[in-house]
Amino acid sequence: MQVGAVVKPGTLLVDSNSKPVVLLIDDSADVHRLVRTRLRYEAIELVTAFSGVEGIAIAREKQPWTILLDLDMPEMDGFSVLRELKAASDTTSIAVIVLSGISESQDKVTAFDLGAIDYVTKPFDFAELRARLRSSLRMQRLMKMLAERAEVDGLTGLGNRPQFDRRLRQELSENARYGHPLSLALMDLDHFKSINDTYGHPAGDEVLQEFAKIVFGSIRSTDIACRYGGEEFALIMPNTAPDDARAVCDRIRAAVAAVKWARHPERPITVSMGLSGLAGPGPGLTAEAFIEGSDRALYTAKRSGRNQVVVGNPATPGGSTPPLAKAG
Ligand SMILES: [Mg+2]
Repeated sequence: MQVGAVVKPGTLLVDSNSKPVVLLIDDSADVHRLVRTRLRYEAIELVTAFSGVEGIAIAREKQPWTILLDLDMPEMDGFSVLRELKAASDTTSIAVIVLSGISESQDKVTAFDLGAIDYVTKPFDFAELRARLRSSLRMQRLMKMLAERAEVDGLTGLGNRPQFDRRLRQELSENARYGHPLSLALMDLDHFKSINDTYGHPAGDEVLQEFAKIVFGSIRSTDIACRYGGEEFALIMPNTAPDDARAVCDRIRAAVAAVKWARHPERPITVSMGLSGLAGPGPGLTAEAFIEGSDRALYTAKRSGRNQVVVGNPATPGGSTPPLAKAG
């Protein structure tokens, strides 16, 4: 993740020009052949996997809209695949239609309990498979459009990147017009990658969610907290000069460091923050320059030992951005 990179506003989640990806996970080559043939006229891009492990890896990388998942597979069965998909934040919202050779209702119930949205029984009635797949894709398109409109981050409930972009521009123009103070903090969880690597993605997701809760509990109603990307968050503080903003940030930093984590009590979590702001009328800064000032301060916080708040100044045009991506 490149911090301080030029913000691209209004990035669309629903691109009407590209076909939605559908992933088939099944151990049988016959099923692959049949499904490919029978779905060849659908407006989808079909990708396939022969095992659960391979399927999960492809799901992570390709972010399919719907997965057709065989329950009966050697080594890792469909139930285990479903459990793993639903446990990780990057695959949890992918719709899964279960393909089952067994018509036992208990298997269907178990699959629904684990988060499947539908099932098709083998041998397939392909008209039915197509109908159920189309219905799933319609639902996914709708959900993506709603998420886009709501400007909410699905994992943490904070604002998403488009909301951040829009609100920062709005607050900057308020500052330019009326001279209201404005502060911006960028917050990055320290060595976050090692949490995912050591304790697994569910533990990492829990840290992100708990952090979001702490932020939400520490800010004022007018502050705007957003997930900026990955383990990085941004806090826009309208009508707040940097000195006051610093107190808000310190409260968050201390609360995070004090958490006892049920999953990894031996491993505390800390957060580094970079803050910059305008105490009064600003020089008509761009959003990019403003972000860059906070980003530089964040970089200094990382370089000076992490778990701290550093206050910097909004950038002047022509400055260079340090490579935070490697700081961790
Ligand atoms: Mg099978």
